[in-house]
Amino acid sequence: MAILETDGLTKRFGGLTAVDDVNLTVEQRETRAIIGPNGAGKSTFINLVTGLLEPSEGAVRFDGNDITGQEPHEITQQGVSKSFQTASIFPDMTVQENVRLAAIAAERGSFRFDFLKRRDRFDVVDDVTEEMLRAVDLWADRGVEATSLPYGDKRRLEIAIALASEPDLLFMDEPTAGMSPEETNATVDLIEQLQEDLGLTIVLVEHDMEVIFRIADRIAVLNRGAIIADATPQEVQDDPDVQEAYLGGVEL
Ligand code: ADP
Ligand code: MG
Repeated sequence: MAILETDGLTKRFGGLTAVDDVNLTVEQRETRAIIGPNGAGKSTFINLVTGLLEPSEGAVRFDGNDITGQEPHEITQQGVSKSFQTASIFPDMTVQENVRLAAIAAERGSFRFDFLKRRDRFDVVDDVTEEMLRAVDLWADRGVEATSLPYGDKRRLEIAIALASEPDLLFMDEPTAGMSPEETNATVDLIEQLQEDLGLTIVLVEHDMEVIFRIADRIAVLNRGAIIADATPQEVQDDPDVQEAYLGGVEL
């Protein structure tokens, strides 16, 4: 069964249709890239699926359940997470405190339904915090104040924060933006490793075609809110409509 399906997903901002009748299916453990020119609707699409925006029309199904219109925290609790840009980091807290706080926030929701297990909740939080810090290779830096981390490490901390809710599906919006080639390589390695170690399904928006070709199983191409191609990296590269959409934009 597909882990994620959108059905006619549409978002209008006044007269502008930012996401236009998008039908997208993502399979379990797939790495799906979403590409498209600036303003194509990539971030809006992610915000619709993760509950940060309410769709004008259409539906979102996760693991077979209709999650359309649910609150972001409800969607997170079901196993969908999004790696934010630095906004989600508390700079004065340590690396470990940042992830622990996110893990507590995620646990709080689930424990409302299971009071008998409350005794164990801090054990769970500590275990998840350690697991995710190790997964992004920041365990050794757990005592460091977040603000003093180098840029690439901060971005990995954001990923660990997103992982603290133990998602099955992780969205990443331009994970390598602003990174040096070395940091970009490390991030690609990390994404591949996370997928293996945690069995994640990853949907990422990315401009760097080298990155996409290294990790994407399939690519969806958005243009003016609509999907104009949804295929393997090679097929997308050879598609004349895609080349047209990118004229003057990113070169394929
Ligand atoms: P992308 O991430 O592909 O660059 P976005 O999803 O950010 O594109 O934006 C798609 C379109 O929707 C753009 O024209 C943008 O200006 C518009 N848009 C995005 N968010 C809002 C908003 N909150 N209100 C009005 N227009 C928006
Ligand atoms: Mg965007």
